[in-house]
Amino acid sequence: MGRAGFVAGNWKMHGSLVRNQELLDAVVSGTRSLQNVSCVVCVPYPYIAQTQSVLEGSHVLWGGQNVSQYHHGAYTGEVSADMLADLGCRYVIVGHSERRTLFGEGNQVVAEKFRAAQEHSITPILCVGETLAQRESDETEQVIAMQLDAVIDLAGIEALGQSVIAYEPVWAIGTGKTATPEIAQSVHAHIRAYLAGFSADVAAKVQILYGGSVTGATAAELFGQADIDGGLVGGASLKPEDFAQIIAGAKQ
Ligand code: PEP
Repeated sequence: MGRAGFVAGNWKMHGSLVRNQELLDAVVSGTRSLQNVSCVVCVPYPYIAQTQSVLEGSHVLWGGQNVSQYHHGAYTGEVSADMLADLGCRYVIVGHSERRTLFGEGNQVVAEKFRAAQEHSITPILCVGETLAQRESDETEQVIAMQLDAVIDLAGIEALGQSVIAYEPVWAIGTGKTATPEIAQSVHAHIRAYLAGFSADVAAKVQILYGGSVTGATAAELFGQADIDGGLVGGASLKPEDFAQIIAGAKQ
């Protein structure tokens, strides 16, 4: 059975009550006729309640951009998976490269966040990908294997099969540089082949998104590749027309 298309928007640290309302209304109307494509917006914590109230009952789901690895307690400033679930979040991004590089999240912490999300029935969108220096020294496959291994070791391969993976080459995030469809497809195929070494079933069913400067103009060709099931979209998810075009490019 084919994998359904999936498009997730990552608003990063952008938004305001007024601006969000316009954006969410546009996403709802742009997805009315969608079938067999999941669409999710991952918004800043303070706007999750607003997002829930606008999206409830629509085709669009919502989620967080980060989650604590802890469940509750004296962790000032943290937000638990339980709290995200309380606000109807069905997805959460874990291991985004901005979290890894700017906030020092290593593979082990990312794996713990992944597990915490699943313990509260939230599907993690696990980001993996190499920096430019790692690509240039031919370490892409090794880096991604280590990122995946940390999750497989802690949560197990079947748990990975209950997640969404986003391949996000760090050099393409927010830079305007998109990996060519061929480069992206070859890494996606590698990820699937790597997972097949643990479980053919998981490798075949897990949705693998591409992320890195996807726009309305580049989405359809990227998503047309055999192992690319959709996208994780930053900047363009804040532009209603671009985002609608990206969603329209997803496999139905
Ligand atoms: C992202 O934040 O996950 C992302 C892919 O950003 P952008 O689309 O802006 O490169």
